[in-house]
Amino acid sequence: MDNKQSHCNEDSYDEMLAAIQAFHDKHDFKGTGGEDLPYRVALMAEELGEISSAITKGKSTESLAEECADLMILVMGTAIAADFDLKTALWKKMDKLMKRESKMINGKIRVSEFRDMS
Ligand SMILES: [Mg+2]
Repeated sequence: MDNKQSHCNEDSYDEMLAAIQAFHDKHDFKGTGGEDLPYRVALMAEELGEISSAITKGKSTESLAEECADLMILVMGTAIAADFDLKTALWKKMDKLMKRESKMINGKIRVSEFRDMS
């Protein structure tokens, strides 16, 4: 099944954002509460719960991927709703993250500023 537009460059962040903007426009999210930020937080929490279920209930990787896509669409849509450049924010944050230290905590790696930890 291929329901993507044929001219679409799937690797382009700008095209992903344009597709999500078109989704918002199609349902007039801006005019109908769909871009209300507290509501979007609730929707993102719901999708995170679905990601959790996909993992804890041992669903297929395809199910997990779909739920992650749902969350990504909401996160990118939140950048539209709150009018910030998520791509710029991501690269800025990656620069910070790459400079941070990591520690093993309870057997799992953690990358953080470790402000309040010895
Ligand atoms: Mg979902």
